[in-house]
Amino acid sequence: MIGGIDLGGTKIEARLFDEGLETLAVQRVPTPRGSFEAFMAALTGQIDWLIARAGDPALPVGLSVAGVIDPETGETFTSNTASSGHSIGAALRAHYGRAFPVANDCMAFTLSEAHGGAAEGAASAVGLILGTGVGAGHVLDGALPPRHSGLAVEIGHVGMPARALEETGLPLLPCGCGKLGCMENYVSGTGLARIAQHLTGREMTALEIAADPEMEPVLQAWARLTAELLYTLQLTLAPEVIVLGGGVSQMPRVAERLSAALAPLSLGPFLKPTRIVTARHGDSSGARGMAVLAQAGAPRTTDRETT
Ligand SMILES: [Zn+2]
Repeated sequence: MIGGIDLGGTKIEARLFDEGLETLAVQRVPTPRGSFEAFMAALTGQIDWLIARAGDPALPVGLSVAGVIDPETGETFTSNTASSGHSIGAALRAHYGRAFPVANDCMAFTLSEAHGGAAEGAASAVGLILGTGVGAGHVLDGALPPRHSGLAVEIGHVGMPARALEETGLPLLPCGCGKLGCMENYVSGTGLARIAQHLTGREMTALEIAADPEMEPVLQAWARLTAELLYTLQLTLAPEVIVLGGGVSQMPRVAERLSAALAPLSLGPFLKPTRIVTARHGDSSGARGMAVLAQAGAPRTTDRETT
């Protein structure tokens, strides 16, 4: 058996998997908002639960974290947990006397989809999470490539090309990172709502927009802008497949819509097409991806502190 933990801003989810990565048991607890000690007590409680369920004190367990993990120190930087500024990996090693792999949640999502998911067998896969924000991960031959920084694939903070803003008539929108015109502000669920607000004056959620035939021009503008993000990934990382996850990926026929919007941007016959597909493992992806890493016994490519 293998354990995986998804450390989110509101809950800590522990999942026990069999060797084939089928979920055997799940337990969720709220993420403490107070001290790091309270946070660690909740986290070790979840790990202890996994170990007890498996009956294996040496159970491999990996942790997915929404945030940046410093590759030198293992420190995590997140906006929403009491763990920010601490090394979770080092604290767990001190507590249990052994190492636990820790990686970014977008990387974990991509690993999960590359192992028994929608990117199974792809030599190069990108996982793109379109939720409240945007994040991405990259997997080569089923493994996480070394990353010099603790960042995942931060495609959401690449600037939207001027040509796409001109075509859609949208302004440079301010981003939470302090810059103007980052792609996240147009292609995330929040971004889709902002496009609708700008083009129609209506306040709607992404799923309301997707269900309303009158909002088709809004969805077309969103697809045009999201195609630029996919094109940037295609030009830089050259993935065989891009797997879509997150709430926005649950809109009907989203992969088909984005494939159609991406096609006209192609550089020509020498740019091999990238398949756009939706994720197979959904909500379990953070824990499942880290179970893949823990099962492989892989070195902590994003948390060297704990090796
Ligand atoms: Zn930004």
